[in-house]
Amino acid sequence: MLPSQLQTLISQFTRLPGIGPRQAARFAFYLLRNEGEISSLANTLKSVDESIKLCENCFLPSYDSPACTICLSPTRDKNTICVVEKETDALNFEKTGQFQGHYFVLGGFIDPLNKESVAHERLNLLVKKTEQTQEPVELILALTPRREGDFTSLYIEEQLKPLKEQGVKIKTTRLGRGLSSGAELEYADEETLKNALEGRK
Ligand SMILES: [Zn+2]
Repeated sequence: MLPSQLQTLISQFTRLPGIGPRQAARFAFYLLRNEGEISSLANTLKSVDESIKLCENCFLPSYDSPACTICLSPTRDKNTICVVEKETDALNFEKTGQFQGHYFVLGGFIDPLNKESVAHERLNLLVKKTEQTQEPVELILALTPRREGDFTSLYIEEQLKPLKEQGVKIKTTRLGRGLSSGAELEYADEETLKNALEGRK
């Protein structure tokens, strides 16, 4: 019953995380109903597509540059790297104003059955990058304390073991208490995140 273009739009929305077909249809009809919304959204998408890139060091978004503002900042410590699952986790840590290091966005958890995943690819880069550094590095494994997060942390430590044996000075730490087991980093308040960062070990 629906024109195929509209169907395509709806099915594109269902690809977004957490959006089911019903919600996707609601988005599409909202856009149709309200004049100017479609072209405004199209323009925004186009401008994001043209000007926003992913930072080549940490995969946070950067504007018109290969590196993001955090990686370019001379006051931030490039040897303390907070490894997070997703971009919004980094944003939450930024809100605490407590963290002065760099981030590294894995883009997902490590799935042992899928070695082609984004997280695997990015982790390989991180390991390579760490291998080349001459100075001591701390990697804060700030992954959500759930099964996938814990597995990913262990996996990362496993990958770094050979480097440590080669004499590369890497320290891995985990977030301290305050984050109850199973709590999503996403929903933790600023104070809890601040304490978790301070109490890392
Ligand atoms: Zn960056």
